[in-house]
Amino acid sequence: MFEDLRDLYQEVIFDHNRNPRNFREMEDSNRKVEGFNPLCGDRMTLFLKVEGGIIQDASFQGSGCAISTASASLMTEIVKGMTEKEADEQFEILHKITTSEDEVENLEELGKLAVLAGVREYPARVKCATLPWHTLSAAIENKEASVSTE
Ligand code: ZN
Repeated sequence: MFEDLRDLYQEVIFDHNRNPRNFREMEDSNRKVEGFNPLCGDRMTLFLKVEGGIIQDASFQGSGCAISTASASLMTEIVKGMTEKEADEQFEILHKITTSEDEVENLEELGKLAVLAGVREYPARVKCATLPWHTLSAAIENKEASVSTE
């Protein structure tokens, strides 16, 4: 199981880094938050369009390492169409699967999020993977601010 996860992780990270989804500025966003991970130097700006509590659109720009870029790319795909609460729950799950020592359960149910569980093999990179999600969390709380992982 874990071997499969590692392969999947590397494959998906590579793909999303080379070809990031939703990598664009959003003209009609109503949430915009900047995130910074000083440990690695990852910087990103997250754009959301939230209407009636639902994330109608999500996009990002910035420059970061492969893991932060791929995580942001995956995240914008995952949360699009979700309610703010659902998106917050995804972050909680991600936090659990990236920091827990336990075997990850129900990987299939986690869908795309499961890929990011692979980052726990590389503890120094967990902040790269979670930066976009910290930024999302601030955007959901409607903070027009900057976020740092430190
Ligand atoms: Zn990084």
